[in-house]
Amino acid sequence: MTGKRIAILGDIHSNLEALEAVLADCAAEGVTDYLCAGDIVGYNACPKECLEKIRSLGCPVVMGNHDHYVSSVQNLADFNPHAAAVIEWTRERLDEEEMEYLRSLPFTATVAGITLVHATMDKPMDFGYVFDHLQAEANFINQKTQLCFHGHTHCPMIYEKQIGAVYRIDAQDMNLTMGRKYFINVGSVGQPRDGDPRSAYVIYETATRKVRFRRIEYDIASAQARIREAGLPDRLADRLALGQ
Ligand code: ZN
Repeated sequence: MTGKRIAILGDIHSNLEALEAVLADCAAEGVTDYLCAGDIVGYNACPKECLEKIRSLGCPVVMGNHDHYVSSVQNLADFNPHAAAVIEWTRERLDEEEMEYLRSLPFTATVAGITLVHATMDKPMDFGYVFDHLQAEANFINQKTQLCFHGHTHCPMIYEKQIGAVYRIDAQDMNLTMGRKYFINVGSVGQPRDGDPRSAYVIYETATRKVRFRRIEYDIASAQARIREAGLPDRLADRLALGQ
């Protein structure tokens, strides 16, 4: 087989069961390279383990808003109390070297002609949400490569720019067309919110220029039990089963 099979993983959010299931699927699919669209930590109960697994891939990783909150935001007064509690809890589990790793993540990366950003290339440090084609327009102004992968909303989606127009297309396997640009949301490994509780990630095959959206079952009950044992908010456990 020629060409690479690149797995793009995002919004892992400390969900070890989900990450392990996704990495097993990557191995079965013959993935050769990895990219991480950020938010390794936050929400779930295994920040340290997920950080270790992602770092062991030796792949490019960009900064997610939760990676940023945990490693760099001192004053949590503007956060809702549940969110602040999880950020504090996560900090207590990480050592200074791990905090420094998170702190040092870049907000964008370009690898082999592919751009990677957590939220949007329009002010990547502001972590704006892209839910429609109008919001995607601002990204495309700043997207220099044909292909850019992102996350942040936890909902897999395709935004396609043709001459004069941007279209939002439901996540589906597709081949890239020359002359068009693509801004592709890879969905969330650790906390999907599109109503499907299975883990989401994307494989991009360079030889065929094909994007494939993967959905993977994982042991949700075990991830939920860890959240409850850790004393993290119940809602974080409940939502995993709902995919919300
Ligand atoms: Zn996230």
